[in-house]
Amino acid sequence: MHHFFLPPNSFNANAVVFPREIAHQIIKVLRLPEGAQVLALDGSGCEFLTRLRFTGSQLVGEVMERRENNAEPGLRLTLAVAMTQREKFEWVLQKGTELGVGAFLPFASKYSLNQETELETGKRLRREKIIREAAEQCERGRLPVLHSPLPFSRCLEVAVKGGRIFFGAERGGATSLLTASQGLDPIAAVTWVVGPEGGFSQEETSQAAQSGAELVSLGARILRMETAAIAGAAIILAAAGDLGLSGS
Ligand code: SAH
Repeated sequence: MHHFFLPPNSFNANAVVFPREIAHQIIKVLRLPEGAQVLALDGSGCEFLTRLRFTGSQLVGEVMERRENNAEPGLRLTLAVAMTQREKFEWVLQKGTELGVGAFLPFASKYSLNQETELETGKRLRREKIIREAAEQCERGRLPVLHSPLPFSRCLEVAVKGGRIFFGAERGGATSLLTASQGLDPIAAVTWVVGPEGGFSQEETSQAAQSGAELVSLGARILRMETAAIAGAAIILAAAGDLGLSGS
């Protein structure tokens, strides 16, 4: 069944009004007929089973049932990842969303390919669309948050407020990420930090350690940043009891 995240003002007492762009997709692209059922999501973890009805110029979904979405991980995982080329970064957003990342925190560090710390509106919209489509496709109940890119030191300050920090150290990570994340509280908040193609500088690594980040390893092979981002997210979520049937 098709899933659509709708803005809050789309929800009325017993019906939802699909915004123009989504209505276009439902009618013209997916060619769903009147009476077809789709799920409308309000982004807070609730989903509404609706039946399509055309009323004048509007596409309405009559609410048949309201239920809790059960695809959200309990763990609140933030993926702090270095800014990089567009395709690579978008790939991380898409795959991270599918896996259950709750927030993306891009940063610019010394060796990042991309040093921008401001997102122009067009880019932001494009990235949010990638996240939304991935979240709809994999049937999540909440939309992951996309933070604006920050300089690395600011990113650490934000991460410190969000629970434990695992910092991918490709050479000399003291513990394996798998070991470090064993026994994680299933509803903990965790930040997984992955550096750019050129790695982190010595200074950045010490700064992270001083901020309380745990330096962890994904093994003897040096992974590309996008591989490290996704592999690490999967390990953390699995260790917290997610990525299994019914969360077991
Ligand atoms: N150019 C660097 C590699 C950077 S890999 C070098 O050759 O030394 C990009 C990022 O992925 C790293 O900053 C790290 O955060 C993460 N990463 C890659 N392989 C890893 C591993 N085996 N263990 C932990 N983190 C890893």
